[in-house]
This record gives sequence, C-alpha cells and structure tokens, in this order.
Amino acid sequence: MRRIADMLDHPAEVVILCGCVSVKVARPGWLLVRLGPEATIEDGERRLICRKCGQRPTLKPKGIWNVTGGRDRRVDPPPMPDWVDLS
Ligand SMILES: [Zn+2]
Repeated sequence: MRRIADMLDHPAEVVILCGCVSVKVARPGWLLVRLGPEATIEDGERRLICRKCGQRPTLKPKGIWNVTGGRDRRVDPPPMPDWVDLS
C-alpha cells in the first residue's frame, strides 16, 4: 500500500497527471490535508478530480534530488518508499 504519509520524511512530491495534459505537482502534505492522514496514492486517484476537465488524474510519486539545501543530514534517515520513482 502506498501511503502518502510515508513520503513526508523524504524529498518527494506527487505529480498529478490528467488526460487533458493538465499537470500539477503536489507536496505530500498538501495531499494529506485534502485526502486525510491515512490516504494512499490510490485514494488520491479515486478522489481527486481535474479542475479543467473533470477526469480522474493519475498520481506519480517522484523523488526530488535537485533541491538546494534540502539534503537530509540525519545520521540514519528512513529509506525512501520503494514505490517512489527516483528517475
Ligand atoms: Zn483534466
């Protein structure tokens, strides 16, 4: 299960893609405010609706590696969930 809350400790974001080529990038915290603290990626795909066309979008969890000053300095950071796309 891909819990969005598992992304909070990581430099990661969720790309929201719609068939109408609308693309939005959301922070995990933004999604949790809207979907609830236990929400999963699948919940987001079921419950979010594109503001432009009304279709249900696809959510793609993605790591952010090019953030300046955002490096995780903790000695033993938790591992990135393996369903987050790091490419
Ligand atoms: Zn759309």
